[in-house]
Amino acid sequence: MKIYPIPMVPGPVKVARQVLDAYQINYGSADMEAEFLELYNQTEANLKTILSTRNQVVIQSGEGMLALWSALKSCLVPGDRVLSIATGVFGDGIGDMAASIGADVRKISLPNNETIADMDEIKSTIETFNPKMITVVHCETPSGTLNPIAELGHAKKKLGVPLLYVDAVSSIGGSPVLTDEWNIDLCLGGSQKCLSSLPDMAFLSVSDAAWEIIDQVGYAGYSALKPFRKAQAEHYFPCTPNWHGVAGLNAGAELIIDEGLSNSFCRHEINAQYCRNQIEEMGLTLFPASDAIPAPTVTAVNVPQEISWQEFDAKLRREGLVVAGSYGPMTNKVFRLGHMGTQADKNLVTQALEVIRKVINQLT
Ligand SMILES: *Cc1c(COP(=O)(O)O)cnc(C)c1O
Repeated sequence: MKIYPIPMVPGPVKVARQVLDAYQINYGSADMEAEFLELYNQTEANLKTILSTRNQVVIQSGEGMLALWSALKSCLVPGDRVLSIATGVFGDGIGDMAASIGADVRKISLPNNETIADMDEIKSTIETFNPKMITVVHCETPSGTLNPIAELGHAKKKLGVPLLYVDAVSSIGGSPVLTDEWNIDLCLGGSQKCLSSLPDMAFLSVSDAAWEIIDQVGYAGYSALKPFRKAQAEHYFPCTPNWHGVAGLNAGAELIIDEGLSNSFCRHEINAQYCRNQIEEMGLTLFPASDAIPAPTVTAVNVPQEISWQEFDAKLRREGLVVAGSYGPMTNKVFRLGHMGTQADKNLVTQALEVIRKVINQLT
């Protein structure tokens, strides 16, 4: 196995020591032991703090995509109208996922390098289409962009849309996610991004309005949310919980809470700004459009014209740096530095930038 000294992939990130330690224990049965329930409740409380919410937070075993699916399947029945706002690969994919379970999906699609700016089309579509759910992505990881959610949440409330679904998997912990203030009903997260844990846990906050709908829909598949509504009160989970995974996720959440939420946001912002400045100073160009909001957790950069992505990637790896490519129309054209969680570290970012500068200088 190859271990890269400079890991900069935007998830899964370098796992924190405290998280790894949480896995070195032979826990008992999560279904039987009161200690597990205490840990689960503690983890929920920590996630509520990070998500700025009073809503219940459900913690499931599986990676981030699980939360994306469980929220859709538990809230939608065929024919339900979904307004899918897509500014990137995940936003677009969520619309397709909703369509695959029979929803009547209307997409508002922006170019991958843009973020939501104009609310007029969104508001008028809400008024004419009358959706049951709006879906949107906070941080579009493949594009390195961050959508503003506040105004959308305001419109959702004002125009009486029952559900706002927000994929905040790659921003939670690294950027303010104001779940209640932004009227988010389903705020989705994963363990392997800013929480610096293994890719084995998914979580989401569920508003009271969403619980009502989940109960009515009554979805009963493996990913169903409904059994979680009373799981803590009855210490009865729909399947054996992953004690290691919850302990790891909690250790990751506590790292951020101990640091202080605003300190964590600040650390991410400073590293992102530094990264973007240095990238531009080298003569490279950022992928997000100049009027788009760049993400504080991941920087997307155009692959230099003089070299293919494959060759560039190989050269970086030879110097000990691993970055990520991108997806969809950005495949082979964009590379990404994930400065999130443990990797939002000035030392690491500096080392990564030094390698990139060295490789770029060899090209000319
Ligand atoms: C990482 C990520 C997910 C979850 O994907 P995984 O398959 O769990 O890695 C979902 N949405 C966004 C925006 C992400 O960055």
